[in-house]
Amino acid sequence: MKSVRDINVQGKKVFVRVDYNLPMDEALNITDDNRIRATLDLIEYLITQNARIILASHLGRPDGVKDEKFSLLPAARRLAEILDRKVLFVDDCIGEKVEHQISHLGEGQILMLENLRFHKGEKKNDLVFAKKLADLCDVYVNNAFAVSHRTQASITGITQFVLLAGSGFLLEKEIQSYRDSVEHPKKPLIAVIGGAKVSSKLAALENMLNFVDQLIIGGAMANTFLKAKGIDTQSSMIEADLLETARTIIEKADQKNVELLLPNDLVVADRFDKNAETKTVVVDEIPAGWMGLDIGPETANRYAQAIQKAGTIVWNGPMGVFEMEKFAFGTQVVADAIAGSNAFSVVGGGDTGLAAKMCGVADKVSYISTGGGAFLVMMEGKKLPGVAVLE
Ligand code: AMP
Repeated sequence: MKSVRDINVQGKKVFVRVDYNLPMDEALNITDDNRIRATLDLIEYLITQNARIILASHLGRPDGVKDEKFSLLPAARRLAEILDRKVLFVDDCIGEKVEHQISHLGEGQILMLENLRFHKGEKKNDLVFAKKLADLCDVYVNNAFAVSHRTQASITGITQFVLLAGSGFLLEKEIQSYRDSVEHPKKPLIAVIGGAKVSSKLAALENMLNFVDQLIIGGAMANTFLKAKGIDTQSSMIEADLLETARTIIEKADQKNVELLLPNDLVVADRFDKNAETKTVVVDEIPAGWMGLDIGPETANRYAQAIQKAGTIVWNGPMGVFEMEKFAFGTQVVADAIAGSNAFSVVGGGDTGLAAKMCGVADKVSYISTGGGAFLVMMEGKKLPGVAVLE
């Protein structure tokens, strides 16, 4: 993969695909600007190289129609504040107005385009739309790791039409952390997998059996595995159509000598509510009608002890309903163990990144991925389409 560092961008029009899909409140205030901050090193580099910087992103799901709710203007303003520098904005991402603005863009200046998804062609990877994007620039840079598992015009299509294309620093960092954790790990390599849906992580789980030494399972995902082992999980969240698959994973782990750790105790509740009545029970004593919402303290300690011996840790998915205080303990213990270990630790994006923040360990892990879906696709052992086209 060619890096932007290997391309002469001096004075060139550089189209940078970023992921500024920022969380916003109802009044359209940005509630977390991490995704902007994750791109600053690249933007500052391009400024020093006197490039003419064109930033493009999607935001939300406007479904191909213009909708002010999903405008990138607030992102442009926040970037300007952070950089303490003017960031120009244009209310479309293709067309005459955009071309006109770009033709007046000076060296080191920044222009943020409006939401790519205001055009249907973006998500459809429409090549006519992709060519219009490509025609805006001399160099294309993909710095949007979190979208690189998608085949979309600004990620894949555009590369068919640009003369020069390369990777941005964030994309490179993400791939490097994957390589360090999965391809060249310090052993033992432990995967800590939780969250709600087995189905969304199934392919990743199966692939992980090929390289991990231990697989630690928590969250609602653990309920499906417990049920597959014949335990009565009562009203716990499970995925009934995946019981057979869970059994296969248990067998495969055994064949491959991967130690699979499942909860032996759980924090159970009489309902899914922050004020629910709770108890700690061993897994085969869940009261009728109750549900497991967190791993129990014994399990949490057992997991923490295993984690302390890790050389490398990959963590994806909370151990319980960490958003509610009563069910956050398991995730906290595991997060503290990961933060306190000497292992190289990589945390998957999305909910797990949030959990790491809420547990106060965001600064104590080696790397937090900026992409939830893209991270899982890499764990499935698949190449990201956005990366493949740069190679
Ligand atoms: P995921 O997106 O698959 O990583 O799932 C994250 C979500 O799983 C979080 O919002 C948690 O509240 C939820 N979760 C974790 N453990 C449980 C559980 N035992 N029962 C229900 N939801 C859970």
